Amino acid sequence: MNILFLGAPGCGKGTQSKILIERYGIPQISTGDLLREEMGSKSDLGAKIKDIMAKGEFVDDELVLSLVSKKIESEECKKGFILDGFPRNLTQAKSLDVLLSRISKSIDYVMLIDVPDEVLIERCTGRLLCDTCDYIGNKDRGENVGDPCPVAEGTLYQRDDDKEDTVRNRLKVFKEQTSPIIDFYQDKGILQRLVGGNDPKLLSNKIIEILDK
Ligand code: ADP
Repeated sequence: MNILFLGAPGCGKGTQSKILIERYGIPQISTGDLLREEMGSKSDLGAKIKDIMAKGEFVDDELVLSLVSKKIESEECKKGFILDGFPRNLTQAKSLDVLLSRISKSIDYVMLIDVPDEVLIERCTGRLLCDTCDYIGNKDRGENVGDPCPVAEGTLYQRDDDKEDTVRNRLKVFKEQTSPIIDFYQDKGILQRLVGGNDPKLLSNKIIEILDK
């Protein structure tokens, strides 16, 4: 089962991916996470990525593709995978097709999660991540940067690119560059349009219903 999540920053791709990982036992490939890992390694490449991400721009297609292909071709993705944050433009979508056909695979489902812009901005600017686990906190719940994580030993922090100006730019870049790939997958007949709200469980139930059909 090869699944792809499509949607603007903050639409809930990551949260839904995590729910599916548990249910179906297939791994998530998040290019955002892979790039943040590279950033954490303090290499020259990491510094370059940090700079691009802080502006809300896209990292070089070839670099992202090489990170993704290494994962997709690995043993852990044999039974399937969940792509989150890739492809993000038409070039990446076409490169993914080439990569998958070379290894006789294809995408089975593209899940497009639609959420209004104002909700996305509020979610991104309000969210706090844990530096140790997958916990996602929120300033609206009274949590703050530097607070201890309520579930693990970690500390809460805000992603550099979750500042309001960067979030607005990420949304603009999404509309310009990522929206065109919606038609690309619509034409293939594998696109599912979903409306995201404030209840992740409600959305995951809808997704599971489609996958288990
Ligand atoms: P979000 O989807 O909420 O914007 P991600 O963690 O997926 O968050 O991505 C964060 C940033 O990482 C992006 O704004 C971009 O700079 C970079 N990035 C992630 N995936 C890609 C990709 N496929 N191509 C280019 N840049 C990417």
